[in-house]
Amino acid sequence: MESTVSGSIKNLTPQDLVPVTVPAMNHPTEKQDGPPPTPVAPAKRIGYAIVGLGKLTIEEILPALSTCKFSKLVALVSGDADKAGNLARQYGLDPAAIYNYQNFDNIKDNIEVEVVYIALPNSMHKEFTLRTAKAGKHVLCEKPMSTNSKDAQIMIDACKAAGKKLMIAYRIQYEPNNRFVQSWVRNNKYGKVRLIESTNVQNSGDSNQWRLKKALAGGGSLPDIGLYCINTARFLLGEEPEWVSATTYSTPGDERFKEVEETVLFQMRFPGGTLLNSSCSYGVHDSKRYRVFADKGGWYGMDPAYNYTGLKIEVSHAEGKVEYKENPSLGDKDHFALEIDHMSRCVLENKMPYTPGEEGLQDQVIMEAIYESARTGKPVNLKKIDGLDVFRGPAPDED
Ligand code: NAD
Repeated sequence: MESTVSGSIKNLTPQDLVPVTVPAMNHPTEKQDGPPPTPVAPAKRIGYAIVGLGKLTIEEILPALSTCKFSKLVALVSGDADKAGNLARQYGLDPAAIYNYQNFDNIKDNIEVEVVYIALPNSMHKEFTLRTAKAGKHVLCEKPMSTNSKDAQIMIDACKAAGKKLMIAYRIQYEPNNRFVQSWVRNNKYGKVRLIESTNVQNSGDSNQWRLKKALAGGGSLPDIGLYCINTARFLLGEEPEWVSATTYSTPGDERFKEVEETVLFQMRFPGGTLLNSSCSYGVHDSKRYRVFADKGGWYGMDPAYNYTGLKIEVSHAEGKVEYKENPSLGDKDHFALEIDHMSRCVLENKMPYTPGEEGLQDQVIMEAIYESARTGKPVNLKKIDGLDVFRGPAPDED
């Protein structure tokens, strides 16, 4: 359905973005700082309501919002009034700005709220995206976007029909070290990338958690952490896979994997000829990394790649008789603050997010093909998609 997507009622002027600079301290041959932060006045920042006050919200999203430059917390939505009250106190929020799942729709009357950040179990993303669009607010939705591609399409359609933006919270695509590696891939540093190896594994605890319930999670390790391997390979290359091949496995008798898979091994091929070999698991010690292998004297990647902090680039390249091993670094930035501020800039400047709903839908389509391949024991062909970054909006230029 065609509709005009709206931005914000707040009017950002060029003066709002003028940086206050200071003279460089170090010699030009040294690593340079900057650019300086350009926060906008609190009255011009985009207001967020957060739905779901779990681990991600408490440990990452709320602290990140405090460091944002274009975004601010204006409401909380929770099924637990005590928890919401405590968090409102910690973050100086008026208790009147606390909603629950029943009265959530009243958020339409709260003009402070422009974006609703959905951080609930995966199967609840659709309901709250639809209710948010109906309330006339933009949506920032956690990954995975939904539990199937049909729901993902419904979420996209609902936001379009309401004239509201929908962004999927793929924080890695906003993180500077990963963006640096992407520039090397796109510029053929050390030649063409022929192979990518990517792993995202961890060891799940409590077998009663929602991540191990099919109805709430949609699947096991694949939609939760294997998704990073899929999405990051697509982000690095800008291409869409032509086929996938996969195997799933769960240790017999392990209580945790009665409903969802423990491990998935999967491969895919991209139109430029790059192959991805990937694994995700909920049953082994933590490792989150990728490596891209190029055909002219070098490989590079990140280990860790998908953690919240401490990301490290690794490079190996040959020059004559010398093999170099290096760890270039752009330092740590808060992934969530970058991603949230990108959404706010899109609302303020009425731009399409870099990772819109269509980006999330494509991952759902690929994951369905992976499950189909594992079920049938055969590779599954995907719809041919030409061009680069076809599901993404304009690249972030905030930094
Ligand atoms: P969590 O279990 O810590 O929190 C979930 C919240 O939802 C809790 O406050 C819980 O009370 C609430 N809830 C409401 N209805 C529920 C129900 N029926 N069952 C269980 N909980 C219910 O989970 P989380 O780690 O905060 O994850 C939330 C979302 O964020 C998920 O979609 C997850 O995939 C995503 N996530 C993203 C990242 C990232 O790096 N982008 C990291 C972790 C989680």
